[in-house]
Amino acid sequence: FTAKKQRNTCRLYTPSMNELPQKEVMLESGLYPALESNQFMLYYQPKVDLESGRIYAAEALLRWKHPEFGMVPPMEFIPIAEKTGFIIPLGEWVLREACRQVKRWEKQGLPQLSVSVNMSMIQFQQKNIVHTIQSIISEEGVRPQQIELELTESIFMDNPDHTLRILHELKRLGLALSLDDFGTGYSSLSYLQSVPIHYLKLDKSFIHDIVSDYRKQMIFKSLVVIAHNLDLKVVTEGVETAEELDIIKGHQCDSVQGYLYSPPLPPDRFAELYRKHSA
Ligand code: C2E
Ligand code: MG
Ligand code: MG
Ligand code: MG
Repeated sequence: FTAKKQRNTCRLYTPSMNELPQKEVMLESGLYPALESNQFMLYYQPKVDLESGRIYAAEALLRWKHPEFGMVPPMEFIPIAEKTGFIIPLGEWVLREACRQVKRWEKQGLPQLSVSVNMSMIQFQQKNIVHTIQSIISEEGVRPQQIELELTESIFMDNPDHTLRILHELKRLGLALSLDDFGTGYSSLSYLQSVPIHYLKLDKSFIHDIVSDYRKQMIFKSLVVIAHNLDLKVVTEGVETAEELDIIKGHQCDSVQGYLYSPPLPPDRFAELYRKHSA
């Protein structure tokens, strides 16, 4: 312990270098018990079709209600779950829970909603990934058409040919596939040539500053044209303002997801929003 003088007070502290790893260690050791004691939950964010103005789908986003840290965002614990392999059981739980939610909403009179689930590259390295996904969906009694998988380009880093085969199998089963976060990291147009996807999700970094940045607008516009020529639908993430929406609409983007419409919500509040929205 070192004493540090701070604004006229003297207090004891553990050097901050030790504080972060400490939380990480606690998150890591807490993952398994968290799954056992229902600390994970899914929030849902609407995707809105710009032509009809309707909510047509929801993205399931994982939340961890930690007994000490409160809500831990996925960016903090998913990398840990990936590093330890825990993402495998956790990812299966996410898919199963999303399927169950689809059924619950159906019973509550919310029809025709598809739910998307984010997949980690670690899940794609599993040999039996297609079988696992298919089993969960059929055990839960959901049609594959109601489930969409969101994938990032990272799944191609390891073994691109293997990944491509898997994607073709998943597509053949009837699942919808999205390429998520397009425009970040190693995004490359070459993926668009070969990857059997239905939706291209443009990352929120595209939208950031788009109102004042003409070049961004032109890149956005061009990407939408490329996607449409390849028979892909374009979803824009991170739309927060009416001005951004205007530009996106002006360039024929198909749908949006963002705080402008709604942040991710617990299932009941999502249902409420859906009813209000479609009334
Ligand atoms: P993502 O799949 O790209 O999800 C979109 C993220 O953008 C979500 O953050 C969402 O809350 C946020 N977002 C939505 N609209 C807006 C907006 O208008 N403005 C801004 N600034 N942000 C917006 P979240 O929920 O924190 O998730 C972060 C990432 O964690 C996700 O990015 C995804 O990569 C990962 N993730 C979440 N759930 C899962 C999961 O179940 N499995 C895996 N493997 N990854 C997940
Ligand atoms: Mg996503
Ligand atoms: Mg994204
Ligand atoms: Mg992301």
